[in-house]
Amino acid sequence: MKSTEQKLTGHFIGGVQQYPVEETSITVRSPVDGSDIGFVPEGGQKTVSLAVSCAENAFSKWSVVPVKERIQVLLKFKTLLELNIDLLCNSIHNENGKTISEAKAELEKGIEVIEFAASLPQILAQEKLEVSTGVECESVRVPLGVTLSITPFNFPAMVPLWTIPISIGCGNTFILKPSEQTPLTPVILAEIFKEAGLPDGVFIVVHGKQSTAELLIEQPQVKAISFVGSTAIAKRVYTRGTEAGKRVIALGGAKNHLVVVPDADPEITAKNIVASAMGCAGQRCMAASVLILVGDTGGILDRVTELASSIRTGTEMGAIISAKAKQRIETYINRAEEKGYRVFPDGRNVSVEGREGGNYLGPTIIHDVNPGDECACDEIFGPVLSVLRVDTLDEAIAIENASRYGNAASVYTSSGSVAKYFSERVSSGMVGINIGVPVPREPFSFGGWNESKFGAGDITGMDGVRFWTRLKKITTKWTAEASRNWMS
Ligand code: NAD
Repeated sequence: MKSTEQKLTGHFIGGVQQYPVEETSITVRSPVDGSDIGFVPEGGQKTVSLAVSCAENAFSKWSVVPVKERIQVLLKFKTLLELNIDLLCNSIHNENGKTISEAKAELEKGIEVIEFAASLPQILAQEKLEVSTGVECESVRVPLGVTLSITPFNFPAMVPLWTIPISIGCGNTFILKPSEQTPLTPVILAEIFKEAGLPDGVFIVVHGKQSTAELLIEQPQVKAISFVGSTAIAKRVYTRGTEAGKRVIALGGAKNHLVVVPDADPEITAKNIVASAMGCAGQRCMAASVLILVGDTGGILDRVTELASSIRTGTEMGAIISAKAKQRIETYINRAEEKGYRVFPDGRNVSVEGREGGNYLGPTIIHDVNPGDECACDEIFGPVLSVLRVDTLDEAIAIENASRYGNAASVYTSSGSVAKYFSERVSSGMVGINIGVPVPREPFSFGGWNESKFGAGDITGMDGVRFWTRLKKITTKWTAEASRNWMS
């Protein structure tokens, strides 16, 4: 197993790391303290061609391995992930900045998808029917070929694991283009796969930025693309990929609303709101970003403010991915303050002792925001919660429905009818009742609505199986006549 201390991490192609001399390197900077923790090459045309032909060659062998055997590799991979959990958590912490326990939680969710994929032999069992005497119809789910995933910085292991187990379990080969900000953990995953017995070329990692991703998308051998990242790029990848005749699912950004009604449990609600908004320093597509208080919710906001203020940045809350991202978030807070909104707690100017080079922002709450304001509408992607007040549940639902996004929406209530009314009317793919991060557990699939997702279906669960396969329908006639007439 490779140590995370190694500085140069190559593309992972054909079962080995490769560092083409002609390629420029990308520096990986740790958000934790600002130190340089590694370098990866930026994949150009030659690397992309090599990766694609390697994946194509591997497909001819891997796609005919019986699914029950393919799954054995995934099960071994899961065991090895669990054995290497500390190495992986440290790597995620170092390159992404989240806390070790958050890194562990993302791996657990990734492992859950592997467990789901372990049921592929049952899922892929064929359907067959004798449709008339001597004639049978059967439908078979077959893999597509070379598949591609382009992933964001915020979950260096979990987001790749949403797609890899299902795609390769279905018999595809797989190229991952991870975020250039968090490229190290995916190579550890590749090495663990090798140790688990995955044949060379079935899982490939190609490093790079926009141009590498675009080159990969253009390759004719790439049959299906999953993308997870910001909405503008998701839309672009969806358009480019589908125009080239490929299957694409592209998950984008989010602005998630939490709605509190007066009968909500004060303590449980306050704790849950803070965990949702401030977990992973707000850099989650499922993070609460807007809190809507309906009518008189008593002391809940005071308690939210108190709990958020008590979070220790640097230990209980991790770092922001980059200095640029931190500055972008601060600009939102500055503008909110200039407009006269109260900012409390105010996470600007936080520093963590001994990690002065790190990118830290403390929990921040912007109060009594206008629903049309940028801090109530834009994805800020940091530990910033905008609070709105309305008189009725319908007003809260109307605000949620007006959002261009539609990843998650939650309501806090002790009333079943309020919960039902809310869940039936909000325009979000994932709804929480007294849950601030309503990520469905497998086999319930993950996916938002509106500009949080482009393409049909969801990215995990049965939709994942449908996405990474296509149906072949075979009609068979076994009669004496057939033996005399080869063309009938
Ligand atoms: P990003 O869009 O900046 O980058 C994502 C990936 O796209 C990276 O690998 C990047 O190199 C690549 N890329 C950049 N330009 C590209 C182009 N023109 N064509 C193809 N690929 C390109 O996102 P990020 O900053 O890494 O991640 C944060 C964003 O991801 C947030 O908006 C967040 O909401 C979103 N996200 C969404 C989900 C979801 O499930 N909806 C999950 C995680 C993150």
